[in-house]
Amino acid sequence: MKALRLQDVRKVYDNGFEALKGIDLEVETGDFFALLGPNGAGKSTTIGIVTSLVTKTAGKVEICGHDLDREPDAAKRCLGLVPQEINFNQFEKVGQIVLNQAGYHGVPRRQARRRMEEVLKQLELWDRRDEVSRRLSGGMKRRLMIARALVHCPRVLILDEPTAGVDIEIRYSMWEFLRRLNREGTTIILTTHYLEEAERLCRHVAIIDHGRIVESTSMKRLLAQL
Ligand code: ADP
Ligand code: ADP
Repeated sequence: MKALRLQDVRKVYDNGFEALKGIDLEVETGDFFALLGPNGAGKSTTIGIVTSLVTKTAGKVEICGHDLDREPDAAKRCLGLVPQEINFNQFEKVGQIVLNQAGYHGVPRRQARRRMEEVLKQLELWDRRDEVSRRLSGGMKRRLMIARALVHCPRVLILDEPTAGVDIEIRYSMWEFLRRLNREGTTIILTTHYLEEAERLCRHVAIIDHGRIVESTSMKRLLAQL
């Protein structure tokens, strides 16, 4: 079973702009996959469609074998998303932010508390659970974004430009964490316009440009071509 499969996915925005012109993409279970492309290529639109934040104009999306149109709840349960921008409530407490997300995914209360503890410990934020998130450092906020995305144990984690605007120390520790998570079995898909990030982390890569996939290959083969 594929972790993700897109067939001829198209997006025309309300202003008539054709952002995706028929995207075909397959990501194997257990893979570490990069969607690479310049700004404006269509990466965020693609991620938006997969995560149901953007409505597609046409095409088919399957997540862990669940069709996004026919089994949206099952499909969404398989996914965790780390958006590009920090978007949690800065006045809410760290633990509560994670619990809210568990609620959104329908995780039962007691299980949610247990998972909240697990993910906050995993990301070294457990000591901060009662602090309002505004007080966290930049690196801690990034870790909170990841903890929140993992609370319902998704099989696939999607990160949109995970280290954009992040300093090098935080970037390296995020990379280390993602490698470990992937080794433990989570499929990871990230978007980046930053080749080094894809090169350091990913086994497979698709290159998107002007709303089309122009290359889909192993990282090894891509590097051999450069
Ligand atoms: P959807 O089809 O997913 O609901 P819309 O087409 O309604 O998305 O777009 C959301 C809003 O973003 C619209 O009001 C649109 O005008 C606005 N928008 C227009 N151009 C851009 C752009 N280049 N980047 C981001 N947002 C834009
Ligand atoms: P990337 O993530 O690769 O930078 P995006 O998916 O954000 O690219 O954007 C792809 C193209 O679609 C860009 O040209 C962008 O301006 C346009 N776009 C994005 N959102 C909207 C919107 N809501 N309405 C109209 N155009 C949009």
